[in-house]
Amino acid sequence: MHAEQQLQLLLNDTRLAKDLRQIAAKVSRSERISFEEGVLLYEKGELGYLGILANYIREKRHGNNTYFNRNFHIEPTNLCVYDCKFCSYSRLIKERSQGWEYTMDEMLDIVKKYDNEPVTEVHIVGGVLPQYDLPFYSELFTRIKEHRPDLHVKALTPVEYHYIFKKAKVDYATGMAMMKAAGLESMPGGGAEIFHPEIREQIAKDKCTADQWLDIHRQWQKLGMRSNATMLYGHIEEFKHRVGHMERLRQLQDETGGFQTFIPLKFRNQDNQMSNVPESTVTEDLRNYAIARIYLDNFDHIKAYWAMISRTTAQLSLNFGVDDIDGTLDDTTKIYSMAGAEEQKPAMSTKELVYLIKNAGRVAIERDTLYNIVTDFTNYEFPEEVKPQFYRLPVVN
Ligand code: SF4
Repeated sequence: MHAEQQLQLLLNDTRLAKDLRQIAAKVSRSERISFEEGVLLYEKGELGYLGILANYIREKRHGNNTYFNRNFHIEPTNLCVYDCKFCSYSRLIKERSQGWEYTMDEMLDIVKKYDNEPVTEVHIVGGVLPQYDLPFYSELFTRIKEHRPDLHVKALTPVEYHYIFKKAKVDYATGMAMMKAAGLESMPGGGAEIFHPEIREQIAKDKCTADQWLDIHRQWQKLGMRSNATMLYGHIEEFKHRVGHMERLRQLQDETGGFQTFIPLKFRNQDNQMSNVPESTVTEDLRNYAIARIYLDNFDHIKAYWAMISRTTAQLSLNFGVDDIDGTLDDTTKIYSMAGAEEQKPAMSTKELVYLIKNAGRVAIERDTLYNIVTDFTNYEFPEEVKPQFYRLPVVN
């Protein structure tokens, strides 16, 4: 059934609680919902109800289009001066023997490995260490762009920028302008975790604060540049903290319009200091995507990292507000696998990603980092594509 018809049925369903019907009516009129209504959705919204609202918004914005890109990651180091309780990836400096620290040349060698590959983006993010400072990253970005001008450099989060700007004694606005001049083209969404101090203090108390995170994005976006935002959910936070987090993002987006994509990140509990905290269920993951789609009315895209939530949940999420499932990755990131994700060597060929999207009944669109269309796979057939067919079973009379 069409998303609009489903919404209409919901609006006419007299068994549905009045407050939930009012929210559905707001969605049908493209009206913004309030903080209290956001919390209510988490408390009372059942999966089917949330899916109908989120899918209505998703299809109104993007139809069946589902985006992905061809990218690879560079993770300069997994050593870190910080000690976030949820982090499975980092090792403290005293555990140096368990870590890696790439030199600039090693990172450029990774870039060169893709010289003849049709990738469009390098995503750079990792731990925080003193030697990776402002001059280092400026030079790295410049050298990547010199080597391959068409490769989009999406790099570092406010956690790293706050650290390197402080060390270099430059303010955020100056620092971000320096990064742009060096070759940085967009900023990923990490390091946001949960903004509320009650939670942030417990899980990530020594890195940049919520205000600092938001201000670094503000200064970057004021330069006319784009970035993403994340939220680490499903640990010790309450629903009001999730909505409060999205509220702060929504406010900054009203001010700047510079965010492209919101990415909910599922807390994984393997090998970190919060291993006693159970992980959220798939149902809760889908509810969370849907509520993000409903609440963030000024964000164009909601993304699910297939490498973090598994391929099948990523397919499901396309019915709950998600329109982007990220990239080919080529087994270049350890962030998800070290946290316990099902995908221990995350890589998908373009063909596999396209099939995954098509098999979920959606249209696969390869995008670049800024959502320009690279290839529309609607009518594309891979040379050896197996067409759906009816199979004849052997029948014994
Ligand atoms: S989450 Fe980031 S800042 Fe925190 S310990 Fe891990 S690598 Fe370091």
